[in-house]
Amino acid sequence: MRYAPAMTDKLTCGSHGEQDVTYVCRHVIETLKDGEPRGFWWNFADGAFEAVCAACNDLTEAEAKEQGPDLVQPLCYGCFRDAAALNGVDLD
Ligand SMILES: [Zn+2]
Ligand SMILES: [Zn+2]
Repeated sequence: MRYAPAMTDKLTCGSHGEQDVTYVCRHVIETLKDGEPRGFWWNFADGAFEAVCAACNDLTEAEAKEQGPDLVQPLCYGCFRDAAALNGVDLD
């Protein structure tokens, strides 16, 4: 699935400062809040990292659209790495 726009944006994170923006499903953000791993299927496309949880990774494009426009949210790259680590995923 492709979510990211073609350009790389920056965002300022309360924990990590100015970082490249990444795009994740809202369940990845829930993992950051509660520490509960939900899967982390990541991909680098059009200059930005993207990741979705295991459940969203199984959705078809049509099903993902039904989840609504807030399914995918911007996240700082530092938080992206934190979420990967919470899921036992090594990005390097
Ligand atoms: Zn998800
Ligand atoms: Zn951050």
